[in-house]
Amino acid sequence: NGNISPVLKVGSSNIIVKNTCSFDSIVQILAAACIYDKFKETVDIATTDTFKFIKSFVQLGPTKKIYKTRAEILKNVTYFLQDTLDIVTIDALSNIVNLCEYIFPENYSYIEICTCQTCHNIKIVKKCILPVNEEILNKYGYAKIVDAIEEGKVLKFRCSKCNEECFTSVSYGVQLFIESSITTALNDIPFSIQLNKQHYTHIGCIVYHGQNSQTSIGHYTAHIRNGTNWIVYDDM
Ligand SMILES: [Zn+2]
Repeated sequence: NGNISPVLKVGSSNIIVKNTCSFDSIVQILAAACIYDKFKETVDIATTDTFKFIKSFVQLGPTKKIYKTRAEILKNVTYFLQDTLDIVTIDALSNIVNLCEYIFPENYSYIEICTCQTCHNIKIVKKCILPVNEEILNKYGYAKIVDAIEEGKVLKFRCSKCNEECFTSVSYGVQLFIESSITTALNDIPFSIQLNKQHYTHIGCIVYHGQNSQTSIGHYTAHIRNGTNWIVYDDM
């Protein structure tokens, strides 16, 4: 969780990193996804810092270099920086949804292109977290996750110029992050789904454990599929 890490020397800065469990959980899941060639190819050629980090993590495992790179990535999220004196403290305490938006600025789960049928004005919406219809999940469970995804984008955009309803087309990214407060047994989540004729395999879940005391802000762990079993990763 970074909490037991000593001070890291990165370049000329001394850095302490805290509360990295949300970041670590995302990395564990995406690293596990690299067993699939198609995803690994994407990671191998990616130019974003987070995907390059995942590539090295898959190759090297949790080495000292990896912890330094993690500190560098989190340091770029200036929101986490606590001071800039002799020691820079990075408190990566974050809602995981916000964190995804920070660390995957170019790796979207979906892109919506809304075109006005009247004036052809175009609006593009990009999101790292795929919105889902929680009512569907609550009623039918995760077996209906595809419906919940397709019904999740409830926004019927109207043109900002002429107020006509827009025609919307959606494309999905190489990875999909879904957030939901609807709890389920892990094995009730479908192993694979199809969206827009693209095939997606479920790699794992990140579970929020909530506050367990006044001083604790909660904790995230990653649960990764291994056949019908699940492996729990608690920090890097
Ligand atoms: Zn218009």
